[in-house]
This record gives sequence, structure tokens and C-alpha cells, in this order.
Amino acid sequence: MSTVLLWLRNDLRLHDQPVLHAACRMGAQYLLPVLCLPDIQARTRWGFARIGQHRRTWLTKTIQNLAENFHELRSQLLILNAPAAKALPALAQALGADIIVCEDIAAPDEQAEVEALRASGLQVHTVWHSSLLHQDQLPWPVRQLPDVFTPFRQAVEHAKLQPYPPLPVPEALPRVPPHIPNEYLREQIPALSALAGPSPSLDTRSAIALLQGGESAALAHLRQYLARGLPHSYKRTRNGLVGLDYSSKWSLWLATGALSPRQAYAELRQFEATRGATESSYWLWFELLWRDYFRFLHMQHGRALYRARGLGPELATPHDDQNFAAWCSGQTGKTLVDAAMRELAATGYLSNRLRQVAASYLIHDLGCDWRAGAAWFESQLLDYDVYSNQGNWLYIAGRGTDPQGGRRFDPVKQAATYDADGAYQRLWGKA
Ligand code: FAD
Repeated sequence: MSTVLLWLRNDLRLHDQPVLHAACRMGAQYLLPVLCLPDIQARTRWGFARIGQHRRTWLTKTIQNLAENFHELRSQLLILNAPAAKALPALAQALGADIIVCEDIAAPDEQAEVEALRASGLQVHTVWHSSLLHQDQLPWPVRQLPDVFTPFRQAVEHAKLQPYPPLPVPEALPRVPPHIPNEYLREQIPALSALAGPSPSLDTRSAIALLQGGESAALAHLRQYLARGLPHSYKRTRNGLVGLDYSSKWSLWLATGALSPRQAYAELRQFEATRGATESSYWLWFELLWRDYFRFLHMQHGRALYRARGLGPELATPHDDQNFAAWCSGQTGKTLVDAAMRELAATGYLSNRLRQVAASYLIHDLGCDWRAGAAWFESQLLDYDVYSNQGNWLYIAGRGTDPQGGRRFDPVKQAATYDADGAYQRLWGKA
């Protein structure tokens, strides 16, 4: 075997990169890292762009950084501006490659991509690596995952499960194939600038505006977060609404895979070893387990999570276009919800607390289809993650596994508790 294609998906990094190690182990003469850009013209069934401007900017920076990091290893990232199912068979043929190695993603669209590649005659080796714990460590087969998060976490903790240690960046990679056709090389820069689009204007109210996508920024962010001792205040501040430090913001990089959860956790454990483990630093592990839980839920239920009824009984799914449009643009008349939706549109980020309040209001007060809300978050969130987004929306809608049947948050009570002085609502109030 002479050439292997390393297809990067939601794992845009070199540190703790099991797919990269798997590809290197194949002993191929040449290894070509490739990435397929998302379709920026794609629209959701609700009529808006599937990837909004903030995500485009963030992803562009992430890809540029990945390309630089491959370059430092004397390799080269090839950027393809077409869907994988079309682009990869053509590239494989041009290079005489017949094996692709890539991340396993347990979501329907992503599984369909792999199936299409296999149907085209390519061998595709998938490697699961986006969770903190590997499914082979769990005390049960993933099909028997508990229906509720708490018993899942308790069993994990009872069994004293710890993630596998993160893998180092390889010292060297197999060379890239010498004759990559020019038509591919010509495409790189124009494709990336098309993805970038116009830079969104910098909103001076945004605490995250100065953050950047990519592995280098991810590791720098992680290390400054730990160096400043913030895990020791995390549990107390995590329901905050304003600023950068009330929560870790690790999701911004976890979502594209620029940060490995095992790397983040290993450095957190190192922090605890030197500066002390507290209930607060433990809580970051607790939240990362939620992230894992939604991943394993996808492995267990797959496509069923994408039905209007989710895992629940068949029920009519209400939707109101006008209410939905008012929600998206922050014009529902409910001050906290509107402020949240304006922050989301202006920055691409929203605190966990306000994601819950906004989602609950759309579903339980405005009578809209939860899938429309999930699609809006997908379009807007810099940290959009297929598993966490779908899982949290189903949870609030009461259409997932949780027997309590949905979560309703009263925005007035939430404002009184979490924004008692109204600072957040003033910050993101009507311009
Ligand atoms: P921190 O509070 O610092 O938490 C540390 C890490 O734990 C996070 O980075 C994240 O990886 C994980 N985590 C924390 N809370 C959750 C949670 N409820 N579910 C899963 N993982 C969690 N998170 C995403 O990463 N992508 C999404 O697309 C996404 N969509 C959401 C949609 C809704 C309706 C809701 C209610 C929550 C959603 N979340 C999503 C979960 C959560 O809001 C974010 O992970 C968190 O706000 C990210 O900020 P942080 O990194 O500062 O989190």
C-alpha cells in the first residue's frame, strides 16, 4: 500500500490524535491529510444558512492553524471544496490511494458520508475518539446505557474509570504524495477565503470576540485557564452570564476537535495534583461526563434522536413561524430571552444557563418545533457540536431518555436569580 488519505472531520488537531496515529501505523509510503470544507450555501429546512458567519470565521481560523501545524511536521493539509462523498473518491483515484482513515462520528449525516465512500469502493477505517472515556471502558455495552445521566455518572465513578492518556504529536509523518494534481493545489486559498466570507463586525460587548479558533489557541487558552487557578472558582461561577471566566469556554475548541477532551482533562488532573483538587475542579469532570453521555446516547439511539418525536410517543409537533422568527431575532418581548438571542447572534456564544432558558421558552412558551431551535443553534454556535446540541434540545423538549419529561425554565424567575441587578439584560438590551 503506498498512499493513505487521512480525512480530518471534527478532529482538527495534531495533539492526542488517534486517527493520525492509526494512519501512521498503516506503514504507507505516503500519507495525505485532507479536509472537505462544508457547503456554505447549504440551508436548513427552516430557511436559514446551516453555517452562520461566526462559525465560518472560526472554522477558517481553525483550518489555517491546522494547515500551519501540519506544515511544521513537513506535511501538507489538502483542502477540498466539495462534499467528501464526491471529492475523496476522485482524489483517491488521482493518487492511486484506496484507504481512508478518519474519525468515527455517530450522527446520521456523518455516518451516511462514510457509507457513500464505502459504496464507491474505498476502504474506510473509522476510529472513535471524541469522547473523554472510550466506550470500551464502560461498565455496560453502549446499547444498555442508563436512561438518565446520574446513574451513568455514578457507575463511571464507582468503577473509578479514567480516560486513556492523551497521545503525543508524532515526531514525523510519512511524506505527502509527490504529485498532487495542480487543480487541487489551485483551489486551496480561494476555497478558504470563500469559507471565511466577510469578517463579522467586532461587537465590543462580546467577551469572546478576541478568541480564535485552532489548536494553538486552544492549548494556550487551556493553559492560561489553569494557570490562573480558575477551576477552583468554576462551580461557583458557572451559572454566570457576563464575561469570559465564569465558565471554561473549552467547548469553543472541543467542538471542532482543536482541543482533545483527554488533553484538557489530563492537564486538569495535573493542575489538581499541584494546586489541589476541590469540589469545584471536580465539577469540570462532571460536566465533561455530560458531554460523553450525549455521545454514547447517539451510539445507542442513532437516527431516532432526529425524529420530531425523538424517543417519545408520537405527538403532533407544534410550530409557529412568526414566533420562531421573533425568537431568532430577539424580539419575543421577554427581556432575558431577547437579550440571550441577541448575544447569540452577535457573538456565536451563549452561556449554558441561557441556552436552557432560550430553548425552554421556544418549546414550552412559544409553541415551536424544537428541531427549528436546534437548527438555529447549529447555525449560530461557535461550539456547535452535533451530540451535545441534539442531546440538550431533546432533554429540554422532553423527547429524549429522561423520564421527567422536559424542562421548563421560567424566564422571569431565571432573570431574578441569575441577573438580579439586570446587568446582563442591559448589556444585550435593544440597541
Ligand atoms: P463549561 O461550563 O466550562 O463546561 C465544561 C465543558 O463541559 C464544556 O466545554 C462542555 O464540553 C461540557 N458541558 C458543559 N455543560 C454541558 C452540557 N449541558 N451538555 C454537554 N456538555 C456540557 N455544548 C456544546 O459544546 N455544543 C453545543 O452545540 C451545545 N448546544 C447546547 C444546546 C442547548 C439547548 C443547551 C441547553 C446546551 C448546549 N450545550 C452545547 C451544552 C453547554 O451549554 C455548553 O457545552 C457550555 O455552555 C459551553 O461553555 P463552556 O465550555 O464554558 O462550558
